[in-house]
Amino acid sequence: MIELTHHDLHRLLEHTGMPADSLVTLYSNTELNDDIDDDGWIRLSYGKRKMGLRKKRDGTCMFLSPQLQCVAYEARPIACRLFPIDVILGDDNEIIDLELSDVVVEKFVKCKHFYGKTGSHSRLLNSASQSRDETDSYWKRLIQWNKLPEKGRKRDFLDFIQFKTGKSRNRKIRTN
Ligand code: SF4
Repeated sequence: MIELTHHDLHRLLEHTGMPADSLVTLYSNTELNDDIDDDGWIRLSYGKRKMGLRKKRDGTCMFLSPQLQCVAYEARPIACRLFPIDVILGDDNEIIDLELSDVVVEKFVKCKHFYGKTGSHSRLLNSASQSRDETDSYWKRLIQWNKLPEKGRKRDFLDFIQFKTGKSRNRKIRTN
């Protein structure tokens, strides 16, 4: 799964003109096999879910073209910008470790887009800092949602993080 924050969703929504509802799948722990006590779970009326990019029926990313190109490249999620690396940052915003991303290990992604040999140290650092800041900000919203006494459904959650779920009038790209 390509995990999303509301920042990723905002960029994708602006770029594609698609409604948030069609960009997002809320994945259960049966599908992800993650630690259920991890951060990042959304509490809904039907159980805990994590927000990720929708996949096609064959399990590949919704933006993967038959030529294995990303049709939303300019607005791809931050996880795709760092792919295939997980960057561990220190308190002073320096890189203290690099790991191979779980996404690679699990082979959920088949697209050709990856960080590659052309990525500079500063670009990697910028993407990693952006990822940390955006994840922190998303998790703060999650905490607020998870404290609500009434748990809603997917549309309620998307509305809560400020994405209306109606149909868009200016669809710009084809995803299949
Ligand atoms: S870079 Fe690959 S995994 Fe990421 S959105 Fe594009 S097609 Fe999907």
